[in-house]
Amino acid sequence: MKRAPRRRDLDYFFPVKICGYHLVGKIKLKVFPVWRGGRGGQGWAWGRCMRWEEDGGGAGQPPRFDCPVWCILCRGGRARLRQACQRGGGVFRLPTDMLSFKLPQLFDIHQVPRVFREDGIISGYRHPRSSALDCILSSFQMTNETVNIWTHFLPTWYFLWRFSVLCSSLDFLSESYTWPLLVYMLLICLYPFTSSCAHTFSTMSAEARHICYFFDYGALSLYSLGCAISYGSYVMPDCWVNTWLHRHFVPIAIGNTLVCTSLSCYSRFLELQFPRKSKVLRTAAFVYPFIFDNIPLFYRLLLCCGGSCSHSEALSSHCYHLIFAFLTCFLFASHLPERLAPGRFDYIGHSHQLFHICAVVGTHFQMEAVLADMASRRGWLIAHSAVPSFLGTIGALAVGFLLNMGLIAFFSAILLFAPHHTALHSSTTSQPSSDCKDQ
Ligand SMILES: [Zn+2]
Repeated sequence: MKRAPRRRDLDYFFPVKICGYHLVGKIKLKVFPVWRGGRGGQGWAWGRCMRWEEDGGGAGQPPRFDCPVWCILCRGGRARLRQACQRGGGVFRLPTDMLSFKLPQLFDIHQVPRVFREDGIISGYRHPRSSALDCILSSFQMTNETVNIWTHFLPTWYFLWRFSVLCSSLDFLSESYTWPLLVYMLLICLYPFTSSCAHTFSTMSAEARHICYFFDYGALSLYSLGCAISYGSYVMPDCWVNTWLHRHFVPIAIGNTLVCTSLSCYSRFLELQFPRKSKVLRTAAFVYPFIFDNIPLFYRLLLCCGGSCSHSEALSSHCYHLIFAFLTCFLFASHLPERLAPGRFDYIGHSHQLFHICAVVGTHFQMEAVLADMASRRGWLIAHSAVPSFLGTIGALAVGFLLNMGLIAFFSAILLFAPHHTALHSSTTSQPSSDCKDQ
């Protein structure tokens, strides 16, 4: 990102025509850079805001005109001079103009390439070639992405705060029983932050949009691994502890993250040509690891329904989590309510915002449930099961992270270097013109 240039001085021979006489005065212009809002890679630019000062001769020394002074005053010259000054003020913009900050223009759905369009969202689109700074600034402007950004940025800080409180009360360094929780807490901080960044920078270009969401999917995929690690250690029903599934729960979950990231990234390649297939594939990519992770919980709930509840303190939080997880999935797949009233929920209330909120509230209940199970089952689990190993917790996270980064790099390379990836771009675009005016 370029720094804003400093003010610079220009000596300028300023021609004035008064009373039919051409006058020339040497003046010094103070030229200030102004922010143009970043249309087409512009940004800080010279010449929008200038102030002239007298020549360096000192205050009070007027411009040297090459004609007698009386001619300025002749034949209504004073009125004309005032008029000229007013026009000059318009041309050179007064310094107060620098204080007015111009927000980037927003666009309607038919003005942006197809790859940027969202079902049922008609207006509030950002420029599809925004600079990184524009993207950051746009999070303070009301666009159709603003609430998406904040509904995951603020929860990141909430989860970081909860994590820091746990750091002060638990010994994450030496007590291996807490390591599954450590991994889980890291990942519930990571996924909303990555999502928030993806929504912020997704309008830098079509390629950037896809890569941003590759990272978003990768983070969600790793979150599912974090769930598996914590569920395998704290949520597993008593009768399943030390079974084959318990011992292989985390390795299978690592494999699931690869399936999840691959399918979800691949679904972006189908988005324009086969939107329905793409949506089904992406939904399945996230539903599948969710169902796998929750198998132990489903069994515990089943046992509870059968009347043999054990360690039931956490079950109410688990149930709230499942309700919000169901809502999250429903909103993601249905595109309600904007599908019923396109254009009505462009800025506030569309399905992706509700999806974010439900996901975060669901994660909050899940965290409470994991903490409750961890505390209430501590004695029983330590007595009947092996303590969590470094390899099975932090090691699994490291392996999952590296493999998923490899997949994201692979899909990004296909996107950037494959000669024909027109499926990711739209041929029927109507790019916003480069001379769009700031609003
Ligand atoms: Zn999102």
